[in-house]
Amino acid sequence: MTLNVLFSAPPQRWDAFRAPLNQALQEAGIEADLRTDHPPEKVDYIVHAPNGGLSDFTPFTRAKAVLSLWAGVEDIVANPTLKIPLTRMVDSGLAEGMVEWVSGHVLRHHLGMDAHICRKDARWDPVVPPLARHRRVGMLGLGELGTACARALAGLNFNVSGWSRRPRQVEGITCLHGKAGLEEILSHSEIIVLLLPLTPATENLLDERRLALLPRGGVIINPGRGALIDDKALLAALDSGQVAHATLDVFRTEPLPPEHPFWTHPQVTVTPHIASETRAETASRVVAENIRRAEAGEPLLFLVDRAAGY
Ligand code: NDP
Repeated sequence: MTLNVLFSAPPQRWDAFRAPLNQALQEAGIEADLRTDHPPEKVDYIVHAPNGGLSDFTPFTRAKAVLSLWAGVEDIVANPTLKIPLTRMVDSGLAEGMVEWVSGHVLRHHLGMDAHICRKDARWDPVVPPLARHRRVGMLGLGELGTACARALAGLNFNVSGWSRRPRQVEGITCLHGKAGLEEILSHSEIIVLLLPLTPATENLLDERRLALLPRGGVIINPGRGALIDDKALLAALDSGQVAHATLDVFRTEPLPPEHPFWTHPQVTVTPHIASETRAETASRVVAENIRRAEAGEPLLFLVDRAAGY
Protein backbone atom coordinates (compact mmCIF):
# COMPACT_ATOMS: atom_id res chain seq x y z
CA MET A 1 0.00 0.00 0.00
CA THR A 2 1.31 3.47 -0.89
CA LEU A 3 1.61 5.79 2.10
CA ASN A 4 0.71 9.46 1.68
CA VAL A 5 3.42 11.54 3.28
CA LEU A 6 2.80 15.27 3.60
CA PHE A 7 5.85 17.56 3.67
CA SER A 8 4.87 20.73 5.51
CA ALA A 9 7.82 23.11 5.66
CA PRO A 10 8.95 26.24 3.77
CA PRO A 11 9.54 25.81 0.00
CA GLN A 12 13.35 25.93 0.24
CA ARG A 13 13.24 22.96 2.62
CA TRP A 14 11.13 21.04 0.09
CA ASP A 15 13.77 21.76 -2.54
CA ALA A 16 16.45 20.37 -0.21
CA PHE A 17 14.48 17.36 1.07
CA ARG A 18 12.51 16.16 -1.93
CA ALA A 19 15.19 13.95 -3.50
CA PRO A 20 16.98 12.66 -0.35
CA LEU A 21 13.72 11.93 1.46
CA ASN A 22 12.29 10.04 -1.51
CA GLN A 23 15.53 8.08 -1.69
CA ALA A 24 15.61 7.37 2.06
CA LEU A 25 11.97 6.16 1.96
CA GLN A 26 12.82 3.89 -0.94
CA GLU A 27 15.89 2.52 0.84
CA ALA A 28 13.77 1.85 3.95
CA GLY A 29 11.45 -0.24 1.74
CA ILE A 30 8.54 2.21 2.03
CA GLU A 31 6.29 2.88 -0.90
CA ALA A 32 5.34 6.52 -0.40
CA ASP A 33 3.76 9.38 -2.26
CA LEU A 34 5.67 12.35 -0.84
CA ARG A 35 4.03 15.70 -1.54
CA THR A 36 3.38 19.16 -0.16
CA ASP A 37 -0.35 19.07 -0.92
CA HIS A 38 -2.22 15.86 -0.07
CA PRO A 39 -5.88 16.22 0.99
CA PRO A 40 -5.67 16.18 4.84
CA GLU A 41 -7.97 13.18 5.31
CA LYS A 42 -5.72 11.05 3.08
CA VAL A 43 -2.42 11.82 4.85
CA ASP A 44 -0.64 8.97 6.70
CA TYR A 45 2.41 10.86 8.04
CA ILE A 46 3.23 14.56 8.41
CA VAL A 47 6.83 15.73 8.07
CA HIS A 48 6.63 19.06 9.81
CA ALA A 49 8.44 22.33 10.41
CA PRO A 50 6.61 24.93 12.51
CA ASN A 51 7.33 27.66 9.94
CA GLY A 52 5.61 25.66 7.20
CA GLY A 53 2.17 27.10 7.98
CA LEU A 54 0.44 23.98 9.34
CA SER A 55 -0.80 24.30 12.90
CA ASP A 56 -4.30 22.77 12.88
CA PHE A 57 -4.04 18.98 12.82
CA THR A 58 -7.79 18.37 13.22
CA PRO A 59 -8.49 17.50 9.54
CA PHE A 60 -5.69 14.89 9.43
CA THR A 61 -8.01 12.15 10.59
CA ARG A 62 -5.97 9.15 9.53
CA ALA A 63 -2.45 10.49 10.16
CA LYS A 64 -0.36 8.27 12.43
CA ALA A 65 2.46 10.60 13.49
CA VAL A 66 3.95 14.06 13.10
CA LEU A 67 7.68 13.90 12.41
CA SER A 68 9.29 17.24 13.24
CA LEU A 69 12.24 18.43 11.19
CA TRP A 70 13.29 20.57 14.11
CA ALA A 71 15.05 19.51 17.31
CA GLY A 72 13.18 22.15 19.33
CA VAL A 73 9.44 21.49 19.48
CA GLU A 74 8.20 24.33 21.71
CA ASP A 75 5.97 25.69 18.92
CA ILE A 76 4.05 22.45 18.50
CA VAL A 77 4.33 20.41 21.71
CA ALA A 78 1.35 22.06 23.43
CA ASN A 79 -0.82 22.24 20.29
CA PRO A 80 -4.27 20.99 21.43
CA THR A 81 -5.18 19.75 17.94
CA LEU A 82 -2.22 17.37 17.92
CA LYS A 83 -3.47 14.03 19.25
CA ILE A 84 -1.03 11.67 17.52
CA PRO A 85 2.60 10.91 18.43
CA LEU A 86 5.15 13.67 17.81
CA THR A 87 8.83 12.96 17.18
CA ARG A 88 11.60 15.55 17.16
CA MET A 89 14.71 15.67 15.00
CA VAL A 90 17.90 14.03 16.15
CA ASP A 91 20.21 14.29 13.19
CA SER A 92 23.95 13.61 13.05
CA GLY A 93 24.37 16.50 10.58
CA LEU A 94 22.58 18.89 12.96
CA ALA A 95 24.84 17.82 15.83
CA GLU A 96 27.97 18.13 13.69
CA GLY A 97 27.06 21.69 12.73
CA MET A 98 26.30 22.63 16.34
CA VAL A 99 29.63 21.23 17.54
CA GLU A 100 31.44 23.39 14.99
CA TRP A 101 29.50 26.56 15.86
CA VAL A 102 29.81 26.13 19.63
CA SER A 103 33.50 25.17 19.48
CA GLY A 104 34.25 28.19 17.29
CA HIS A 105 32.53 30.64 19.61
CA VAL A 106 34.00 29.11 22.77
CA LEU A 107 37.49 29.29 21.24
CA ARG A 108 36.91 32.91 20.19
CA HIS A 109 36.29 33.95 23.78
CA HIS A 110 38.80 31.58 25.34
CA LEU A 111 41.63 32.84 23.12
CA GLY A 112 40.52 36.49 23.30
CA MET A 113 40.52 36.63 19.51
CA ASP A 114 38.56 39.90 19.28
CA ALA A 115 41.40 41.87 20.84
CA HIS A 116 43.73 40.82 18.04
CA ILE A 117 41.32 40.89 15.13
CA CYS A 118 40.14 44.41 15.99
CA ARG A 119 43.58 45.82 16.94
CA LYS A 120 44.79 48.52 14.52
CA ASP A 121 46.47 50.81 17.05
CA ALA A 122 50.04 49.42 16.82
CA ARG A 123 49.96 48.46 20.50
CA TRP A 124 52.00 45.31 21.19
CA ASP A 125 50.12 43.88 24.14
CA PRO A 126 51.09 40.26 24.65
CA VAL A 127 48.43 38.66 26.86
CA VAL A 128 48.81 34.90 26.55
CA PRO A 129 45.51 33.04 27.05
CA PRO A 130 45.43 30.22 29.60
CA LEU A 131 45.38 26.65 28.38
CA ALA A 132 41.93 25.24 27.75
CA ARG A 133 42.42 22.83 30.66
CA HIS A 134 42.28 25.87 32.95
CA ARG A 135 39.10 27.29 31.38
CA ARG A 136 35.83 26.16 32.90
CA VAL A 137 32.94 25.75 30.48
CA GLY A 138 29.40 25.00 31.64
CA MET A 139 27.03 23.26 29.24
CA LEU A 140 23.38 23.80 30.18
CA GLY A 141 21.63 20.84 28.58
CA LEU A 142 23.24 17.45 28.17
CA GLY A 143 20.99 16.07 25.46
CA GLU A 144 21.90 15.16 21.90
CA LEU A 145 23.46 18.52 21.08
CA GLY A 146 24.77 19.51 24.51
CA THR A 147 26.53 16.19 24.97
CA ALA A 148 28.10 16.33 21.50
CA CYS A 149 29.38 19.86 22.17
CA ALA A 150 30.56 19.02 25.72
CA ARG A 151 32.50 16.03 24.39
CA ALA A 152 34.10 18.10 21.63
CA LEU A 153 35.15 20.81 24.09
CA ALA A 154 36.51 18.22 26.51
CA GLY A 155 38.42 16.81 23.53
CA LEU A 156 40.09 20.23 23.23
CA ASN A 157 40.98 19.89 26.94
CA PHE A 158 38.43 22.40 28.27
CA ASN A 159 37.33 21.74 31.83
CA VAL A 160 33.67 20.98 31.04
CA SER A 161 30.69 20.57 33.36
CA GLY A 162 27.20 19.82 32.15
CA TRP A 163 23.74 20.28 33.61
CA SER A 164 20.56 18.34 32.88
CA ARG A 165 17.13 17.69 34.39
CA ARG A 166 17.84 14.08 35.31
CA PRO A 167 21.17 12.65 36.44
CA ARG A 168 23.49 11.89 33.50
CA GLN A 169 26.89 10.30 33.10
CA VAL A 170 29.15 11.47 30.30
CA GLU A 171 32.78 10.41 30.32
CA GLY A 172 35.15 13.32 30.84
CA ILE A 173 32.36 15.72 31.86
CA THR A 174 31.37 16.68 35.40
CA CYS A 175 27.62 16.07 35.32
CA LEU A 176 25.26 18.05 37.53
CA HIS A 177 21.50 18.23 37.72
CA GLY A 178 18.64 19.84 39.58
CA LYS A 179 18.48 23.27 41.23
CA ALA A 180 21.64 22.82 43.33
CA GLY A 181 23.49 21.61 40.23
CA LEU A 182 22.46 24.75 38.36
CA GLU A 183 23.79 27.04 41.05
CA GLU A 184 27.03 25.07 41.17
CA ILE A 185 27.62 25.08 37.42
CA LEU A 186 26.84 28.80 37.12
CA SER A 187 29.09 29.75 40.01
CA HIS A 188 32.16 28.09 38.56
CA SER A 189 31.82 28.43 34.75
CA GLU A 190 33.61 31.24 32.92
CA ILE A 191 31.83 30.35 29.69
CA ILE A 192 28.22 29.15 29.73
CA VAL A 193 26.64 27.49 26.68
CA LEU A 194 22.86 27.04 26.58
CA LEU A 195 21.59 23.97 24.74
CA LEU A 196 18.31 23.52 26.57
CA PRO A 197 14.85 23.21 25.07
CA LEU A 198 12.38 26.01 25.77
CA THR A 199 9.77 24.69 28.21
CA PRO A 200 7.81 26.26 31.07
CA ALA A 201 10.61 25.03 33.37
CA THR A 202 13.46 26.60 31.38
CA GLU A 203 11.90 29.94 30.33
CA ASN A 204 13.89 32.86 31.81
CA LEU A 205 16.26 30.36 33.42
CA LEU A 206 19.08 32.90 33.29
CA ASP A 207 17.50 35.77 35.20
CA GLU A 208 19.11 38.54 37.26
CA ARG A 209 19.75 36.30 40.27
CA ARG A 210 21.31 33.46 38.28
CA LEU A 211 23.41 35.74 36.09
CA ALA A 212 24.81 37.18 39.34
CA LEU A 213 26.08 33.69 40.27
CA LEU A 214 28.53 33.61 37.35
CA PRO A 215 32.15 34.50 38.00
CA ARG A 216 32.51 38.22 37.15
CA GLY A 217 33.33 38.72 33.46
CA GLY A 218 31.72 35.47 32.33
CA VAL A 219 30.65 34.79 28.75
CA ILE A 220 27.23 33.55 27.63
CA ILE A 221 26.79 31.61 24.39
CA ASN A 222 23.18 30.85 23.51
CA PRO A 223 22.33 28.64 20.55
CA GLY A 224 19.39 27.11 22.51
CA ARG A 225 16.36 29.39 22.54
CA GLY A 226 16.07 33.14 23.14
CA ALA A 227 13.55 32.97 25.97
CA LEU A 228 15.93 30.88 28.12
CA ILE A 229 17.46 34.23 29.08
CA ASP A 230 15.76 37.32 30.51
CA ASP A 231 16.83 39.95 27.93
CA LYS A 232 16.69 42.89 30.32
CA ALA A 233 18.66 41.07 33.01
CA LEU A 234 21.29 40.11 30.43
CA LEU A 235 21.64 43.70 29.19
CA ALA A 236 22.01 44.92 32.78
CA ALA A 237 24.64 42.26 33.49
CA LEU A 238 26.55 43.26 30.34
CA ASP A 239 26.40 46.95 31.28
CA SER A 240 27.69 46.28 34.77
CA GLY A 241 30.55 44.05 33.58
CA GLN A 242 29.13 40.99 35.36
CA VAL A 243 28.88 39.40 31.91
CA ALA A 244 31.72 40.32 29.56
CA HIS A 245 30.13 39.13 26.31
CA ALA A 246 27.04 37.37 24.99
CA THR A 247 26.99 35.52 21.69
CA LEU A 248 23.35 34.96 20.82
CA ASP A 249 21.97 32.90 17.94
CA VAL A 250 18.34 32.73 19.07
CA PHE A 251 15.86 35.36 20.23
CA ARG A 252 12.38 35.78 21.67
CA THR A 253 11.31 37.34 18.38
CA GLU A 254 12.99 36.22 15.16
CA PRO A 255 14.19 37.91 13.06
CA LEU A 256 15.53 40.05 15.92
CA PRO A 257 13.70 43.41 15.53
CA PRO A 258 15.98 46.20 14.19
CA GLU A 259 15.39 48.35 17.29
CA HIS A 260 16.41 45.62 19.75
CA PRO A 261 19.40 46.76 21.87
CA PHE A 262 21.23 43.47 21.24
CA TRP A 263 22.01 44.68 17.70
CA THR A 264 24.06 47.67 18.86
CA HIS A 265 25.41 46.54 22.22
CA PRO A 266 29.23 46.44 21.91
CA GLN A 267 29.47 43.26 23.99
CA VAL A 268 26.82 41.29 22.12
CA THR A 269 27.35 39.19 19.01
CA VAL A 270 24.15 38.43 17.10
CA THR A 271 24.03 35.52 14.68
CA PRO A 272 20.75 34.93 12.77
CA HIS A 273 19.68 31.47 14.06
CA ILE A 274 22.34 29.71 12.02
CA ALA A 275 24.14 27.76 14.74
CA SER A 276 23.03 24.59 13.03
CA GLU A 277 20.37 23.25 10.75
CA THR A 278 18.74 19.92 10.08
CA ARG A 279 20.69 18.47 7.14
CA ALA A 280 18.49 16.91 4.46
CA GLU A 281 20.68 13.93 3.67
CA THR A 282 21.09 12.62 7.22
CA ALA A 283 17.70 13.80 8.52
CA SER A 284 15.81 12.09 5.68
CA ARG A 285 17.09 8.74 6.90
CA VAL A 286 15.78 9.51 10.40
CA VAL A 287 12.32 10.37 9.05
CA ALA A 288 12.22 7.28 6.83
CA GLU A 289 13.32 5.03 9.69
CA ASN A 290 10.53 6.36 11.89
CA ILE A 291 7.91 5.73 9.21
CA ARG A 292 9.30 2.23 8.78
CA ARG A 293 9.09 1.67 12.53
CA ALA A 294 5.53 3.00 12.77
CA GLU A 295 4.41 0.72 9.94
CA ALA A 296 6.16 -2.27 11.56
CA GLY A 297 4.55 -1.53 14.94
CA GLU A 298 7.97 -0.75 16.49
CA PRO A 299 8.52 2.12 18.95
CA LEU A 300 9.27 5.47 17.31
CA LEU A 301 12.66 7.08 17.77
CA PHE A 302 12.93 10.48 19.49
CA LEU A 303 9.36 10.59 20.68
CA VAL A 304 8.57 13.89 22.39
CA ASP A 305 7.54 13.71 26.04
CA ARG A 306 4.50 15.99 25.82
CA ALA A 307 4.34 16.46 29.61
CA ALA A 308 8.02 17.48 29.91
CA GLY A 309 7.68 19.64 26.78
CA TYR A 310 10.70 18.29 24.86
P1 NDP B 1 17.57 17.14 23.95
O1 NDP B 1 16.12 16.98 24.23
O2 NDP B 1 18.33 15.97 23.42
O3 NDP B 1 18.33 17.64 25.25
C1 NDP B 1 17.80 18.59 26.11
C2 NDP B 1 18.65 18.68 27.35
O4 NDP B 1 18.11 19.72 28.17
C3 NDP B 1 18.63 17.39 28.17
O5 NDP B 1 19.88 17.16 28.76
C4 NDP B 1 17.60 17.73 29.24
O6 NDP B 1 17.74 17.03 30.45
C5 NDP B 1 17.88 19.18 29.47
N1 NDP B 1 16.73 19.83 30.11
C6 NDP B 1 15.46 19.96 29.65
N2 NDP B 1 14.68 20.56 30.56
C7 NDP B 1 15.49 20.83 31.62
C8 NDP B 1 15.27 21.41 32.89
N3 NDP B 1 14.07 21.86 33.25
N4 NDP B 1 16.30 21.49 33.73
C9 NDP B 1 17.53 21.02 33.39
N5 NDP B 1 17.81 20.44 32.20
C10 NDP B 1 16.79 20.35 31.33
O7 NDP B 1 17.69 18.39 22.95
P2 NDP B 1 18.82 18.68 21.86
O8 NDP B 1 20.13 18.57 22.53
O9 NDP B 1 18.57 17.89 20.64
O10 NDP B 1 18.49 20.21 21.51
C11 NDP B 1 18.56 21.22 22.51
C12 NDP B 1 17.96 22.51 21.97
O11 NDP B 1 18.84 23.13 21.02
C13 NDP B 1 16.66 22.37 21.18
O12 NDP B 1 15.55 22.20 22.03
C14 NDP B 1 16.60 23.68 20.43
O13 NDP B 1 15.95 24.64 21.24
C15 NDP B 1 18.07 24.07 20.28
N6 NDP B 1 18.51 24.03 18.87
C16 NDP B 1 19.02 25.18 18.31
C17 NDP B 1 19.47 25.20 17.01
C18 NDP B 1 20.07 26.43 16.42
O14 NDP B 1 20.41 26.44 15.24
N7 NDP B 1 20.24 27.49 17.17
C19 NDP B 1 19.43 23.99 16.17
C20 NDP B 1 18.89 22.84 16.87
C21 NDP B 1 18.45 22.88 18.15
P3 NDP B 1 17.61 15.43 30.51
O15 NDP B 1 18.92 14.94 29.89
O16 NDP B 1 17.51 15.14 31.93
O17 NDP B 1 16.41 15.08 29.69
